[in-house]
Amino acid sequence: MEKTTHIAVVPSPGFSHMIPLLEFSKRLVQLHPDFHVIFIIISIESPPSSSIAYLKNLPPNIQFIFLPPITKQDLPKDANLAVQIQLAVTKSLPSLKHELKSLNSKSHLAAIVVDPFATEALSFVNELNTLSFIYFYSGALTLSFCLHLPTLHEEISGEFRDVPEPIQLPGCVPLYGSDLPDPIQDRSNESYKMFLQRTKTLLSVDGLLVNSFTEMEERAIKAMTQKESGFPPVYPIGPITQTGSNSEETGSECLKWLDNQPPNSVLYVSFGSGGTLSQDQIDELAHGLELSGQKFFWVLRAPSNVSSAAYLGSGNENPLDFLPKGFLERTKEQGFVIPSWAPQISILSHGSVGGFLSHCGWNSTLESIQKGVPLIAWPLFAEQKMNAVLLTDGLKVALRPKVSENGIVEGEEIAKLVKSLMEGEEGKEIRKRMMDLRDASTNALKEDGSSTMTLSQVALKWKNNLNGI
Ligand code: UDP
Repeated sequence: MEKTTHIAVVPSPGFSHMIPLLEFSKRLVQLHPDFHVIFIIISIESPPSSSIAYLKNLPPNIQFIFLPPITKQDLPKDANLAVQIQLAVTKSLPSLKHELKSLNSKSHLAAIVVDPFATEALSFVNELNTLSFIYFYSGALTLSFCLHLPTLHEEISGEFRDVPEPIQLPGCVPLYGSDLPDPIQDRSNESYKMFLQRTKTLLSVDGLLVNSFTEMEERAIKAMTQKESGFPPVYPIGPITQTGSNSEETGSECLKWLDNQPPNSVLYVSFGSGGTLSQDQIDELAHGLELSGQKFFWVLRAPSNVSSAAYLGSGNENPLDFLPKGFLERTKEQGFVIPSWAPQISILSHGSVGGFLSHCGWNSTLESIQKGVPLIAWPLFAEQKMNAVLLTDGLKVALRPKVSENGIVEGEEIAKLVKSLMEGEEGKEIRKRMMDLRDASTNALKEDGSSTMTLSQVALKWKNNLNGI
């Protein structure tokens, strides 16, 4: 009988950090059943119920361990989201080390896989005589940017947003400085330094697993995997996304409404697991959706001026209280508004959904691609603007609204884009390209597909490490 290969997987706190690594673990053990995954969970307070739900019904060869949670009092109140997440990882290192050592004493770990915010967990690899892998949950464009950042940091002086020319990374769509992630926008800020430090760690690991697929980002992937690039091996193994809905009760209510709508007629509107809009922006979005005359399904959160405000959990307010007066009544035939959370996969899979107004989080991006749903790209934070550039300028499967000078997307602009996507000629072209991309994403995951083959290469490397080859 073949020896079991143990892998430790360590995500950083946050729903959209944990789920991709869990889905990756599921795919790994499904394709390579002789692997055993130990999933080690770092959390701020207790993990949200949406995350806990996912830990039920895991295959027997995935085991999970909760480290003692870090409390919000342990973290600086005014620190931004990325800093809080990374500090939670730092503070969890002693208990993490304890778990890893105890695991390694029982069975040798072939590799530790972490996400980019949990790279400090890799500081134990030498001691444990194991391999270091990063699961990069965004796409190849963002990975390429991160791998090049230490060089760009040296080559470009001043702020990136002030550089007049677009940055041309090998094989990638050109990027303007203003499209780069928020922490990159201010060199004097602590989060810039932390971001830069994280990108340097990417350069020193045994392998980088990227949640993309060759057919989608071929040139970018090729450029990074060439030996001359000097980067660690890059393995495109995606698209890996949520495999199921996690909110059955609300699910049935949502789906019933969608069942009564014509095919491809509904625009799904959602800003990820924690994206929020300001009150003014909620008003404009409501106005735009109503004005468009198109059917919509909107997952609404209470307003905040910090766009990632609900990422680590939201308050108790009822989001529906923040809609313009009379909106729900006026649009009761046109739309469905659900507070805070909806079963996104089931919605995107529904035949009545014909468009997705999305904040372009990478998971939402891939889920939309897998379901062949064209997008309106409305990035908020993190690397979402880069994803929006890839979707609009690179893959041409999305429309992007113009943001006015006051930072707001106005209702008229929203209405124009929604109509164009849902019933215009441009929308038809975009939909056609999205269908092709959907087929390519399906192929990548087939038994002989590019991403399946790549994951087998990784599995072999891990087994060889275990066997001392
Ligand atoms: N999601 C969901 N229901 C919601 C909002 C989000 O199931 O109402 C899921 C979505 O399907 C995706 C994840 O949460 O898997 C969001 O991840 P993404 O990378 O798109 O954005 P983030 O949450 O990191 O901003």
